[in-house]
Amino acid sequence: MAAFVKLSTKAKMPIVGLGTWKSPPDKVKEAVKAAIDAGYRHIDCAYVYQNENEVGEAIQEKIKEKAVRREDLFIVSKSGNAFLPTDDKGNVLSSKYTFLDAWEGMEELVDQGLVKALGISNFNHFQIERLLNKPGLKHKPVTNQVECHPYLTQEKLIQYCHSKGIAVTAYSPLGSPDRPSAKPEDPVLLEIPKIKEIAAKHKKTAAQVLIRFHIERNVVAIPKSVTPSRIQENIQVFDFQLSEEDMAAILSFNRNWRACGLFAARRNEDFPFHVEY
Ligand code: NDP
Repeated sequence: MAAFVKLSTKAKMPIVGLGTWKSPPDKVKEAVKAAIDAGYRHIDCAYVYQNENEVGEAIQEKIKEKAVRREDLFIVSKSGNAFLPTDDKGNVLSSKYTFLDAWEGMEELVDQGLVKALGISNFNHFQIERLLNKPGLKHKPVTNQVECHPYLTQEKLIQYCHSKGIAVTAYSPLGSPDRPSAKPEDPVLLEIPKIKEIAAKHKKTAAQVLIRFHIERNVVAIPKSVTPSRIQENIQVFDFQLSEEDMAAILSFNRNWRACGLFAARRNEDFPFHVEY
């Protein structure tokens, strides 16, 4: 069964979760139900994915059926892009508020008992440092959710986060093949011959190897799927291990390639990817 990553709050975060970005509202409900039936206890959501109502309905139905208890579920949501105000042409503007101001608002949610813990996403290590050094910081981030896969192995950022007691969550672990910005010439992670070879050796699929890659590093992975058979496949990753040799081969693919470049925010002063990590 699924393993956990221990957070600084002592809470246990299931190391595999279901991603829900791009999951159409009419499909996400069945996907979440299939995931809970398959043993997922972690669902990754966001207001901007425009399907949180349906995710919530699926969870409620499963709780009613007694398939799962609410206290056993780890539900992640994300606030909107509060740092990305735009002008009437859609250009991203600077705001007088910083993410440190936003954090204070988020801390109130914890104090009011509305959320259990706070996380960050797409933060580079300078930004994390700024947050951790914020005078009067009440609640530390428990996880930094960033893109991570064999073409963006994030070794330095993972090492940095872990050294600060911050878990890392890998988004787009399969390379996000259904992302709207995909171009025909972009690399396809699920088709990398070496990944397929490693998968065949372990009698597993390429997707399972891409997910297991994170588990070996104590990194949480949140593959998205609306296909019940794939949802099941993506959590069948606890009955094999990648060898040191497999891991070295996979890590050697790093080329700092991003599926999700947050291109719209490139000119924002807080754009996180101008630095190495
Ligand atoms: P993923 O890397 O999870 O890839 C999803 C795609 O892979 C879908 O097209 C899915 O198809 C397909 N797929 C899933 N399982 C398999 C399988 N076993 N074999 C073959 N294909 C498969 O991409 P995402 O970008 O969606 O990332 C995962 C999650 O991370 C998001 O859904 C979201 O929750 C989060 N995220 C967070 C971001 C952030 O800025 N914080 C940014 C991007 C993602 P199908 O659904 O048709 O089965």
